[in-house]
Amino acid sequence: MPNPAAHLPFYYGSISRSDAEEHLKLGGMMDGLFLLRQCLRNLGGYVLSVTHNLRFHHYPIERLMNGTFAIAGGKAHCGPEELCEFYSKDADGLCCPLKRPCNRPGGLEPQPGIFDSIRENMVREYIRQTWQLEGDTLKQAIISQAPQVEKLLATTAHEKMPWYHGSITRAQAESRLYSGSQPDGKFLLREKKEKGSYALSLVYGKTVYHYRIGQDKAGKYSVEDGTKFDTLWQLVEYLKLKPDGLIYYLRESTPNPDMPTETATPAPPAHPSAFAQRRLVSQNSDGYTPDPIGRGKKGRILPMDTSCYESPYSDPEELKEKKLFLKRNNLIVEDMELGAGNFGSVRKGVYKMKKKHIDVAIKILKSGNEKAERDDMMKEAQLMHQLDNPHIVRMIGVCEAEALMLVMEMASGGSLNKFLSSKKDEVPVNNVVELMHQVAIGMKYLEEKNFVHRDLAARNVLLVNQHYAKISDFGLSKALAADDSYYLAKTTGKWPLKWYAPECILFRKFSSKSDVWSYGVTMWEAFSYGQKPYKKMKGPEVITFLEEGKRMDCPPKCPPEMYKLMQQCWTFKWEDRPDFSTVETLIRTYYYSIAARTEERQEEKVKNYS
Ligand code: AMP
Repeated sequence: MPNPAAHLPFYYGSISRSDAEEHLKLGGMMDGLFLLRQCLRNLGGYVLSVTHNLRFHHYPIERLMNGTFAIAGGKAHCGPEELCEFYSKDADGLCCPLKRPCNRPGGLEPQPGIFDSIRENMVREYIRQTWQLEGDTLKQAIISQAPQVEKLLATTAHEKMPWYHGSITRAQAESRLYSGSQPDGKFLLREKKEKGSYALSLVYGKTVYHYRIGQDKAGKYSVEDGTKFDTLWQLVEYLKLKPDGLIYYLRESTPNPDMPTETATPAPPAHPSAFAQRRLVSQNSDGYTPDPIGRGKKGRILPMDTSCYESPYSDPEELKEKKLFLKRNNLIVEDMELGAGNFGSVRKGVYKMKKKHIDVAIKILKSGNEKAERDDMMKEAQLMHQLDNPHIVRMIGVCEAEALMLVMEMASGGSLNKFLSSKKDEVPVNNVVELMHQVAIGMKYLEEKNFVHRDLAARNVLLVNQHYAKISDFGLSKALAADDSYYLAKTTGKWPLKWYAPECILFRKFSSKSDVWSYGVTMWEAFSYGQKPYKKMKGPEVITFLEEGKRMDCPPKCPPEMYKLMQQCWTFKWEDRPDFSTVETLIRTYYYSIAARTEERQEEKVKNYS
């Protein structure tokens, strides 16, 4: 997750208070000399260390629920940099205004926090082992779900720390600490019988002392109601630097004998049973389930928890049976109609595979259709059959029986535009960013395969649930030859002009870059919660509007960063427009930065411990 202080020359990363004071001493101790460091207690927080009258003052800066930053009791600022700028003009309660940054000496990089350095490996391993994903599917899951998984890890990471001994008794803890040498500061952490309660057992002067670690209502941990921390591993790291009421610092941990020794790649926290349970719970359409992993809060179903994240053919035994043409007696067509189009209707159904039954959507060509329509439908099926991505509706196959039927994965949440217009007040804008990021992942995949979609629009993004989107409707799509960069349409057709880039309308040229333009229009639809683009204009008027250099306005709730991206997608010349690889990176960076804020627990006021 990007650290908004990482670029600041006076940011030192995860250093202790005494190291901060050393740097300030070396910096000359003048009034208003300051530096910034990572807060070890709350996720995403900082500490501002300032000198005044030859004394040190340390002010914790907390990241608040809405993503802003504030010193307890002070004004909120949009980032740590803005906060420092503010206090450089006005002391506003600090010992003095900030006068001079104490910059890092040349060559000294900010010190990574304990969690920063192992985070990437942990996220990968956690996803790999929990959902048994490999290869590209694993990569996609990491990209789309890293913020959620990081949050989960941050609160359960202690379970894989060598000092965590799980649920052992006080007597067992003592026997483990008394075995071998007993240096001061040797410690372990154990779970007590009462839920959410832990104990810290610490050796000092050959005696073991036990301290109770409790959780307050906000879920923060503290030893005997002392300094509060978001996570147990942060509490331990902090107590290694500062005894904070304990008889001694934490020094050497007693490794848990029951824990397999891990090497380079830390294994994920032990939650297999909880996740197995998660995979079984039936989900609501909003993607939430009452309490799937026993965290006492609403837990979110992740895309990987659904049955349509991986291809139904990811099982090698099912893959052996994979064919484009499906047997009619393996298909159950239900009466329920999911939608309709010129070709006919889309009905709900079930497809019986070798080992499992899957829910499917069946596009049925209505009788009396011309051969041309049949051919189009077959082309769509053949094209989709070559695609396999978690953010693209997969084609299971075709069934020729009472009618020609395309059998696809089911995305029961309906289209993105309808969903957003019906849930305007319930779906936060960050949720829209999350879904549009997934659309970008799917489109980047198409770009890599040299496929052009040609009909990307919010109506063609279907939802599995509120947090899981898939691109559908490949009726106009084309697979380009390896050395072609665009498709030249022979004639114009019944085209969705408002979604089309200028080169499509003017020269009938279609490429991934023209899909990027459509992606910008789809973003506009999504951030305006299902409004129709270029509302008052007719299709042909749109091109004049664009040629005059005009673009649609920023929708009211749309973050400026997302409007900027839309505008980049609407770069007139396709050569200058970003590709999906760039678009995906841009929206991912923004999504990660806001995901960190929205997933944040309600923070309680931090007391100033200076
Ligand atoms: P289409 O002609 O592909 O746009 O499909 C028409 C409508 O059928 C869509 O707007 C959806 O409501 C529904 N539909 C199409 N494909 C699916 C699917 N894979 N899962 C669920 N509903 C679908």
